[in-house]
Amino acid sequence: MATNRTFTMLKPDAVQNGHIGAILEKINAAGFRIVAMKMTQLSKVDAEAFYAIHSERPFFGELVEYMTSGPIVSAILEKDNAVDDFRTLIGATNPAEAAEGTIRKMYAESIAANAVHGSDSDENAAIESAFHFSGRENF
Ligand code: UDP
Ligand code: MG
Repeated sequence: MATNRTFTMLKPDAVQNGHIGAILEKINAAGFRIVAMKMTQLSKVDAEAFYAIHSERPFFGELVEYMTSGPIVSAILEKDNAVDDFRTLIGATNPAEAAEGTIRKMYAESIAANAVHGSDSDENAAIESAFHFSGRENF
């Protein structure tokens, strides 16, 4: 059954480039409610665990290095059809292929430094939210 929550991170390039406010504005304007939010910096162990599904991919080392390179903002978002609607809002993984008006088209630097994460399923949204937030932070 589809749930109404997804998980996101504003990645190090988005934070470094001063895009936190603009991206949160777009998220709110698209009808998502922010359920939980914080700024952290991932350790190598954290990033390797979060992206474990990609551990055999050629870009894994670069991805972990990038995701640990600076602070991120992680958040749990709520909206009907949250997972799919948020993937539409952020656009394709490669910003060069992302649709006009999507967050990645507007703010991403490259396929690696692509501004935002969005969960790809309800199951992963729950797993990723639990990875970043405790029950006390997750309202
Ligand atoms: N990534 C990369 N090179 C690639 C594909 C992906 O650096 O060729 C990075 C990128 O930051 C991406 C993340 O790995 O967001 C996870 O990849 P995935 O295929 O899950 O893309 P997403 O679900 O984030 O669109
Ligand atoms: Mg993914």
